[in-house]
This record gives sequence, structure tokens and C-alpha cells, in this order.
Amino acid sequence: MFDNSATLTILAAGLNAAAFAMTDIAARLALVRDLVPGRLCLTTSFGIEDQLLTCVAAELSGGVELGDGVEIVTLDTGRLFPEIHDVWRLTERHLGITIAALSPPAASVAALVARDGNDGFTASVANRRACCHVRKLEPLARALSGVAAWITGLRGEQSPDREGVPFAEVDAARGLLKINPLFDWSRASVLAELGARAMPVSALEGRGYRSVGCAPCTRAVRPDEPERAGRWWWEELGAAKECGLHPPAAFTTPTMAASGSPPAPV
Ligand code: SF4
Repeated sequence: MFDNSATLTILAAGLNAAAFAMTDIAARLALVRDLVPGRLCLTTSFGIEDQLLTCVAAELSGGVELGDGVEIVTLDTGRLFPEIHDVWRLTERHLGITIAALSPPAASVAALVARDGNDGFTASVANRRACCHVRKLEPLARALSGVAAWITGLRGEQSPDREGVPFAEVDAARGLLKINPLFDWSRASVLAELGARAMPVSALEGRGYRSVGCAPCTRAVRPDEPERAGRWWWEELGAAKECGLHPPAAFTTPTMAASGSPPAPV
């Protein structure tokens, strides 16, 4: 973690300039390893983008001098699809790695469920964000504690809110660099690369789930729908389909009360 936003800005600019003519994912990750001092963390939800990054990160960590390598973690919200647990196991076996899981604090989940009910996230956007805060954002904060660069599977094509996402950007709130190695890749290119590497993908992929989150909050999409249309589909059309991990500028994230209680609806 950096305490100087000017340092982060300079690093991000250097990475973006160096990656300008580079499309190879392994080269992009190696560039980050070479230029960013400190720990690198890839968070995976086992979607196709994260599967490709996990494969490349595992290869780099095992194949070249990368110091401590790239840490790979997942946020186990407690509401994941069984198919995601399946591909998680398959991935570990395929790559010979262990993917660390971070879960929300049991007391926070209990407080959330006591207040809103088990599926209270459908009642309002505020409730949904409160659930995402407890189940995703709090574990993410632990995952990224002390990390210099957070590697994500964001692609510009995924939604209007993600259009223009750069290779490297400053996450000022978290005091780190956010690296999006697939920022300019198409969905078809990601799938082709996964196929070439014989990487497992979740069974949901073949059933129209083009973006996968928690089971009760994700549905399959039609071919003519945006990739993230199946996320929180009951919410207003056009609303930012984000949980707070990757907030667009207008997205505000509720803060966690010091007691560990879920944030109050706004
Ligand atoms: S995606 Fe749904 S179940 Fe998962 S944390 Fe967010 S609101 Fe809760």
C-alpha cells in the first residue's frame, strides 16, 4: 500500500505507457511485477477473465523470478453457485495451486440477516449494497490490506460503466494501483485463450451466464443483452451493475459501522 497518491499516479502513467503496444497477458503481468514494488493480488470470482488471469499468474509465479509471485484469492460470500465451487476445485487441481478464500465475518452476516432477512437484498438497492458490503467489500479490504497492486478481470466491453477502463489506474481510496490486464480484450479473445490453455471454465458459461456473481443475484442473459444485465436484474434498467468492488464515479459505497453491523440503508 502506498501513502503517496503522486507516487501511484506516476507508476500508473509509466505502466500505461509501457503497456501501450503490449497485448500479451503474460507480458503485461510481468511488466507489473517488474515495475511495482510490493505485493500483487489477483481476486478471482472464477469468471472467464479471472480464469485466464489465474492461469497466467500461476505460470508466471512458477516459471520466472517474480519474488513472492501473484497472490490469488477469492471472496467466498456464502452465496456462490455450486458450479463456482466446482470450478474452483478443478482450477486448483489443474494448476497445482491453492486459492485462498476470504469469508465475511459471521457476526456481520448474522446482523445483516437479522435486519433484512436472508434474501433482503431484493427489497432495495440500499439493502443490496449493504449485503455486498458485508459479504464482499469487507473481505476484499482484508485481501488488499498491504497490497501494492490489485489485479482484476475488468474489461471495457463488459458494460457502459466499464468503458474506457485503463490498464493501470489509481485506486486512491484503497491506496493502491488497480491493474486491469484485459482492459482491451474481447470476450471472444478471452475464451479463445482459455481454450488454447485448456483451462477449466464453470458449467455456467455454457448456460448463458456471461457475468457471474452470487447465485441469488445472477441470471443468464440473452445473446442480445449486455454481459452484466444478469446481475441484480430486478434493479432499474441503466443502473450501475456494480457491487462496490469496482465503483463507477457516481457510485457511493456505504461505510461499515465500527460495531461490525451492516451499514444502514440510505
Ligand atoms: S451479490 Fe447478492 S448475495 Fe452477493 S453479496 Fe451482493 S447482494 Fe449479497
